[in-house]
Parts: sequence; structure tokens; C-alpha cells
Amino acid sequence: MPEMPEVQGLVDFLNGRTTGLEITRVAVASFSALKTYDPPVHALQGAAIRGVTRRGKFLDIDAGTGEAPLHLVFHLAKAGWLRWYDALPATLIRPGKTPIALRVALSDGSGFDLTEAGTKKSLAVYVVRDPAEVPGVARLGPDPLDPGFTLDSFAALLTGRRTQIKGVLRDQATIAGIGNAYSDEILHAARMSPYALAANLSEEDVAHLYRATQETLTDAVAEASGKPPADLKDAKRRGMRVHGRSGQTCPVCGDTVRSVFFADNSLEYCPTCQTGGKPLADRRLSRLLK
Ligand SMILES: [Zn+2]
Repeated sequence: MPEMPEVQGLVDFLNGRTTGLEITRVAVASFSALKTYDPPVHALQGAAIRGVTRRGKFLDIDAGTGEAPLHLVFHLAKAGWLRWYDALPATLIRPGKTPIALRVALSDGSGFDLTEAGTKKSLAVYVVRDPAEVPGVARLGPDPLDPGFTLDSFAALLTGRRTQIKGVLRDQATIAGIGNAYSDEILHAARMSPYALAANLSEEDVAHLYRATQETLTDAVAEASGKPPADLKDAKRRGMRVHGRSGQTCPVCGDTVRSVFFADNSLEYCPTCQTGGKPLADRRLSRLLK
């Protein structure tokens, strides 16, 4: 799943390539991906792109004018991606027979597809007058890389939360943009158990976690920025120290990275760095042993 750094990479790329161009055609191939009907998709045709911004893990393409605001907002979900073409193919896309959910053609012959792999479809596209009309955008908590996001504001978000810190970091209504991968990385950098309760963290723990969050995301955004969409996923994978690296060696201490499996995903952590050397209970395994 693309998280804040990859989405920021896409935003930077699109800003450089599309600002000032006109949208000449929008073809919807997956009708379930389109979540809005007013304004209609064809309202985008002929609109000039004014800029692209990131809102949490959402991309927001501003194609409106002062009198007629118009935004194409999308969320790539777990298996969605953006495929860029310097010269957009002229082939027609056929609904239901392609991983392409949406194709956008631009006035210089370039364009992009939003694609989604797999059978579980959760990529979401919205055409709105105001990005706040998108429920997922309206609910977003503060952005951790916003200059106003201070240690004090971070501490305030954690106060009284009797929830595992891993879940708090991933909760978009609390902090925007962090998902499963970067929460693993942040907790590893902070040397903190994913199961630690947010409300129980000491002042010092909170300061460590705040710094780890800022550093991990700043580094990842710097790595993603300036890369074309096709290179962003590999760049993300290469930057990971524990996430997706189960069974491999922790680059900090040399212990073996371990996983805990859940219904539809897993988390990774280093026991020596994060849990005092003690492996966390693997719920899948313990269920099998019963
Ligand atoms: Zn380690």
C-alpha cells in the first residue's frame, strides 16, 4: 500500500508533469471505483490542472477555477497504483477486463492510468468541488510533516489512548498518512513494542517516538521525491529495515526480524531492538497449536 512518502513522490511527479495541462479525456473502467456522481466525471474534460497536493494518503488534483472549483481526488488503497505515460496509448480500455480503473488523458499527449491489482477492489476516486466532501479527507488528523505538528501536539494525541501504539500511528483520524509499513519502521526506529499502550508511554518515550516519526518519514519522502512512479515501490522496499523483512537480519542489532500475522496483514519487528528480546505471540501459530 502506498503511504505518505510514496504518495508525496507521486504528487511531486504529477506537479512537475501535469500542472498547466488540460485534461482532455477521463475514461472510467471500474465503475465501483468512482464514488461520486455530482459533479459528473466529464466535468473534468477541458479543465486545466492548477496543482496536485497530498492529503494524508489521498492525492488531490485541482482542476478548477475560482468560480468553478473542481477536484479529482483518489486513494490508491492496498493494491492501487498510478501508471504514467509520456505518450498515452490510444487503445480503448474495456471495463471488467483490465486492472485499469481510470484513465486520464492530457493535452500534450501524456496521461496516466489508475490501476488496481487483485480481486478485492478498494481504490476510490472522487470528483468534488471541495476535497472536504470526501469523507476520508474530512476525517484526517494532522499531517506529521506539517510544520505545526510539534512534540506537544503529538503528545496530546496520545494522552489517555488505551490503545496499542501501532494502531494509533495507523489511525488516519489521529495522524494522517502512516500505514502498516511506516508504522513498523517508526516503531523500530523508536525501539518500541508495537503492543505498547499509547497512554502508558513516558514523556521520554513520546519524545523518542516523535523524533522517530519525523526522521523516518522525512527520510522516506526525500528518497521518494524526484522518482518516477514506476520506481517508487522498489525505493520503498529498499528503505525498509523491518517491514516485509521477516527472517532477515536487523540492520541495527543483527537479530532476526520477526512477524506477527493478523487476518489480512502482518507486522514486523525486531525482538532485540523493540521487545527486550522477547518474541511477541504469533496469534496465527497459537491458534493452530490449540
Ligand atoms: Zn534489532
